[in-house]
Amino acid sequence: MRLVNWLRFLVALWLGKLAGFASRTLGRGGSSLPGKLCLLVDSGSLKRLSGQLKHGSVLVTGTNGKTTTSRVMEDIFRAAGRYVIHNRSGANLLGGVTSTFVDAASLFGRVEADIGLLETDEASIPRVAQEVNPAALVVTNFFRDQLDRFGELAHTVELVRSGLPSVRPGGILVLNADDPLAVSLGRAIPPHINVVYFGLDPNVCSSNEELSPSDAFVCPSCGGGLEYTHRFYSHLGIYRCLSCGFSRPQPDFRLTAMESEGMSGSTLEVVGPEVHPFTLRTALPGLYNAYNVLAGVAAAWSLGVCEEEIRYGVQNSVPSFGRMERVSVGDKWLNIALVKNPTGFNAVLETVASGDGSEGLMLCINDNYADGTDVSWLWDVNFEILAAVRGAKPIVTSGIRAADMAVRLKYAGVDPSRIKVEPDLEKALDMALSWVETGGGLVALPTYTAMLQLREVLRRRGLVRHFRED
Ligand SMILES: [Zn+2]
Repeated sequence: MRLVNWLRFLVALWLGKLAGFASRTLGRGGSSLPGKLCLLVDSGSLKRLSGQLKHGSVLVTGTNGKTTTSRVMEDIFRAAGRYVIHNRSGANLLGGVTSTFVDAASLFGRVEADIGLLETDEASIPRVAQEVNPAALVVTNFFRDQLDRFGELAHTVELVRSGLPSVRPGGILVLNADDPLAVSLGRAIPPHINVVYFGLDPNVCSSNEELSPSDAFVCPSCGGGLEYTHRFYSHLGIYRCLSCGFSRPQPDFRLTAMESEGMSGSTLEVVGPEVHPFTLRTALPGLYNAYNVLAGVAAAWSLGVCEEEIRYGVQNSVPSFGRMERVSVGDKWLNIALVKNPTGFNAVLETVASGDGSEGLMLCINDNYADGTDVSWLWDVNFEILAAVRGAKPIVTSGIRAADMAVRLKYAGVDPSRIKVEPDLEKALDMALSWVETGGGLVALPTYTAMLQLREVLRRRGLVRHFRED
């Protein structure tokens, strides 16, 4: 019987490898097909493959920041000399995660890696956790995704919660203390898990933005109103419930200071349990990336990586494509930041607006399925900040919904003479770059499929490698 199981596993693996080889040959990257086929033949194959990792798997989930947090952790683990496998191309459902292992395994199914770093979609957490029995689960935050309503967000939290019993004994749950929804996961957890919280000190920054009614936050414990004594951005802050006493826990890992250098990154000061304040230099810009770095540091430290290795790893972590990656285009540079929901969009706009206003700006909005087909979420984004801060630089709108984006900017109070509409991405890019002075930069904010198109344009011009190599 064991031999039959073993043969079935090998057939599954080989079929997966063959599919992976075929899709690479055909130039289709980041596929979940190899994993799906492998699971179809042997539903236990992911368990068998991931079970060989020396230090187990780390799952990274949450609405925003999964990719960057995983990337930071990967760089830290590499700095610590651990051999990491990571589903980097964003294949974050069960099939994609399995594909990563199929690819990493030898022909006889051996996986030599120390640690599996698995960026996992929230909805896939129960299944993936069940198969890999993670050593750690990292939750970045929970935000509304485009048109989600609160009920859907609560459902998402429950999906992640149902993965907790699968965390291995002694495993850790790393949570954002500033996000009440993430913190609600740390309540009544199975006794075999340790919780580690990360959060910001109130002096780091402060949000002036009003909470919109759609974000008005209720206590995840009793449904009462949450009172904030401090807010960082959106619903992240220092809060407590007046009815039941639910409150923000004291973070184990704290960001105690942050010095922003605009789009080129920040210097962060972090304090942990039994850890003196230490300084980290990161090329990842903005407050939201400070959260991503902090999450990665908290998880890596809790998994036994030391300060020196963390500092070295963070310092060498550069943004991946579409996550504020900086690409040189002749004597100018281009920053590309994927936008997929109002909170993420606002966070990037704030970073852009906090600079000296010398950069160009291009907004690329598509409405294909992967982008979200209803673009009305753009009305929840705070474009008003662009009207107030940036000088007279033109703003280029592009993509299938370039015209809708332009209308939104007009309503936000941006001078119509500054708004240039060019639906064709390549033409829009050249137009926007032509207005950037030598040595200056352009910030492009695309939705998902617009990002892929933009990347393809840059690849054709030899400026970036193919997506798969990311
Ligand atoms: Zn309450």
